[in-house]
Amino acid sequence: MHKGSCLCGAVTFETKQDPEYISNCHCNMCQKHHGAAYASHAVLRSEDFSYTSGAEEVSSYNSSGTVIRTFCRHCGSSIEWKDPQNHPQWLSIAVALFDTTFKAEIPKEFHTEHKAWWMQNH
Ligand SMILES: [Zn+2]
Ligand SMILES: [Zn+2]
Repeated sequence: MHKGSCLCGAVTFETKQDPEYISNCHCNMCQKHHGAAYASHAVLRSEDFSYTSGAEEVSSYNSSGTVIRTFCRHCGSSIEWKDPQNHPQWLSIAVALFDTTFKAEIPKEFHTEHKAWWMQNH
């Protein structure tokens, strides 16, 4: 079991299993939503994830198509990336929110054609 929390601590969650893998997404929407060169998400089964506090503080934004991005409405921490309509069984959670570590393979890289210009050597 793993635990995580947002920057202000209002939102906390736990997961029942190790995430399946970590995805680094370099798309422009992830860059903006995370305020970073790319978003690192732990991809896990929806059924393994639950909020332990602050679920009512989680706001969501429909960034494109059926994709929903959620965040803490107090501190702005990015939390979920999900597409409940097309992939209800999967959930991507910002890895940086985890307060416990887990074993992970080398992350999968997505949309590397949009790698941030300020990270050219990365
Ligand atoms: Zn927060
Ligand atoms: Zn992305």
